[in-house]
Amino acid sequence: MHELSLLENVREILENHAVSQKFSKVTKVTLEIGKLSSVEPEALRFGFDVVMKGSLAENAELIISDIAGLGVCQQCSLQVEMETSHEPCSHCGSPFVKVIQGAEMKIKDLIVI
Ligand SMILES: [Zn+2]
Repeated sequence: MHELSLLENVREILENHAVSQKFSKVTKVTLEIGKLSSVEPEALRFGFDVVMKGSLAENAELIISDIAGLGVCQQCSLQVEMETSHEPCSHCGSPFVKVIQGAEMKIKDLIVI
């Protein structure tokens, strides 16, 4: 599952941060998930406890916040909101819309001890 390998990356990032910033436990993790990233928040929630088990983020609380999808139409140059990454321009119908926001997933915030 896609989400599990993402979570493994998150765990690795947390472990690296723990070394460089000298903390030993993560109690809360906030992840920002782009609407166009094809990451399922439910799958992420489900996988989180499994992947973090035995790590410094075991039993940490997971907060998921959305990043809206945004694109720029290559034809009419307008900025459009997007629900999926293959959506035609809502103004002119052009299929060439370049995603500029919402395809990413990032760690927004950590609460550590
Ligand atoms: Zn357009």
